[in-house]
Amino acid sequence: MTLVACNNQQRPGRASAEPGSIFMVEFDAPFGMPPFDQIRFEDYKPAFLAGIEQEDQEIEAIANNPEPPTFENTVVAMDNSGQLLARVSRVFYGLRGAETNDSIQALARELSPLLSEHSDNIYLNEALFNRVKTLHDDTTGMQLTTEQYRLLDIYYKRFVRSGSMLDEARKERLREINKELSGLTLQFGNNLLSETNDYKLVINNEEDLAGLPEGVIAAAAETARNQGEEGKWVFGLQKPSWLPFLQYSEKRDLREQLYKAMYTRGDNDNDNDNKEIINNIVNLRVEKAQMLGYNSHADFILEENMAKTPANVYDLLNEVWAYALPQAKKEAAALQALVDTEGGNFKLASWDWWYYTEKLRQEKYALNEEELKPYFKMENVREGVFEVANRLFGLSFRKLENVPVYHPEVEAYEVLDADGSHLAVFYSDYFPRQGKNAGAWMSSFRTQVTRDGENIRPLIYNVGNFTRPTDTAPSLLTLDEVETLFHEFGHALHGMLSNVTYAGLAGTSVSRDFVELPSQVLEHWAFHPEVLKLYAHHYETGEVIPDELIEKINAASTFNMGFATTEFVAAALLDMEYHTRTQTGTIDVRGFEEQAMKKIGLIDEIIPRYRSTYFSHIFSGGYSAGYYAYLWAEVLDADAFQAFADKGVFDQETARLFRDNVLSKGNSDDPMELYKRFRGAEPNPVYLLKNRGFVE
Ligand SMILES: [Zn+2]
Repeated sequence: MTLVACNNQQRPGRASAEPGSIFMVEFDAPFGMPPFDQIRFEDYKPAFLAGIEQEDQEIEAIANNPEPPTFENTVVAMDNSGQLLARVSRVFYGLRGAETNDSIQALARELSPLLSEHSDNIYLNEALFNRVKTLHDDTTGMQLTTEQYRLLDIYYKRFVRSGSMLDEARKERLREINKELSGLTLQFGNNLLSETNDYKLVINNEEDLAGLPEGVIAAAAETARNQGEEGKWVFGLQKPSWLPFLQYSEKRDLREQLYKAMYTRGDNDNDNDNKEIINNIVNLRVEKAQMLGYNSHADFILEENMAKTPANVYDLLNEVWAYALPQAKKEAAALQALVDTEGGNFKLASWDWWYYTEKLRQEKYALNEEELKPYFKMENVREGVFEVANRLFGLSFRKLENVPVYHPEVEAYEVLDADGSHLAVFYSDYFPRQGKNAGAWMSSFRTQVTRDGENIRPLIYNVGNFTRPTDTAPSLLTLDEVETLFHEFGHALHGMLSNVTYAGLAGTSVSRDFVELPSQVLEHWAFHPEVLKLYAHHYETGEVIPDELIEKINAASTFNMGFATTEFVAAALLDMEYHTRTQTGTIDVRGFEEQAMKKIGLIDEIIPRYRSTYFSHIFSGGYSAGYYAYLWAEVLDADAFQAFADKGVFDQETARLFRDNVLSKGNSDDPMELYKRFRGAEPNPVYLLKNRGFVE
């Protein structure tokens, strides 16, 4: 640990250093961690500009190399280019997601067209494309490994898909489209962040807290204090705030108010409205796809995924929908019956679903989330997921003290492999803050790569928006949050265990419908009885979670699954409706969505998991024509976990096969080939249906 303390000291003269210079060389903090304590806002822009210029020069040098193209002087050279830009981008966009402010938002807007143009300058560079094409057209005699051929093929397709084959006029139009799209998708996200942060439900009257658990009330009081509303209670549109309110509040009118605020985000005809932006995005995507020779944006996107075609996506979604919708209707009827028994005298609405579901859950399974939460202190859950990684892969985690992090709530760990060697750095950042986007995600400040014979290890982080600690209680997670923590950690393992040669193929740089396999498979460990006993200890008494509660959790595991599946598939189908469009033209967003939902027979009591105007996955997050991917990957993860279920959750041989063939391989081979090497066969979709309780 001496290394840590020593490197953490402020460098003398830093205050007067040239802006941006901190990014010019590899960071000299421990393990190459970004020195957040020394990075100033003024450093970003000069570093971005220098990074763009540096990569432009590198690309020019490759494109104009007088030597004939070889794998080394062209493909490897490209994979090695842009290191400065990557270094600053990873830090900057990491903070833009997790700890942003007005300056960062403004700079992101300023950079977006520059970066889009920069990318076009690379992928529309004719001389460079010709070199890649020459290699790709004839690989005989090159003796490429599988990984090398894959890298070449990926670059080649990236050029083609970026418009390298188009004439000059079309290339020009494509550049315009890309620039516009990058601005629009950014704007969509910014609007959503404002809509989420701008709203609050302020409660003045203690009676209006009826039904809410103590912890939820305490958190709302604290939020109120932080926002200058001392003595009141504030609820907002971050999930840890709205969800428990919907689950427990006895005040139907307030539930309606809060829920409507949640689901009208971006649809309020104000400055943050996203409907026009959606129009522009969808139409530009149609135009771009057709210019490149595809029928629709979905055809363009899916070609690169395991699913390959929209038809394959619809097949899966429709098959699952056929099980989910009838189940959801049964669930709605049961909830309505509960309303009626209570003399409610109203038709169940979408803002009632959670409340009555919670009641029914308690009635049927005597399972109360509040009773469970003491066993899921955030720190214990994190220890639990570390323990799972230890038992499966021999990894161990050493807390790093006094290392630079971007917020005091961020914690960092050195991850050691089974043989004690350094594997990675893992950061966790789990609580909601003003400057943090909603949701949970994994990314990295540096990916794994083997360069000049040295295996450079990655810096991986997980960000979440889980229940905050309060003055009186630590962070106690809901089951949903526990599952999310395991999920994101599965992505983290994919990043940390990566062991490839080329940066472009490392870790999670795989197709959208494969990337959710490592994350979703890890969810299966979260509530396995054997695993719960390892980590689910009462935060006050230390008592191991009793068998009776474990049984209840597992008995209730498919409860409300009709709803969960229906709201998910509805959103996935909405995504496909937008992105299989083959014609440009004005879209009436509200009407379009309504039509799409009517077509599949969605019931009034359920709204899609994301409505259009806050569907950031598809309009600002890179999951366009890709939201289905979670379900696609579930076919894989349910089948993959079956291998462990058959042989034991910590079976060493199965774990080794999974690590060697999937987790360490990044995108170095075709995903189905990787999967078959692990499992010995293609996945059987029946395990997904079993998992969700749709078949026995
Ligand atoms: Zn994920």
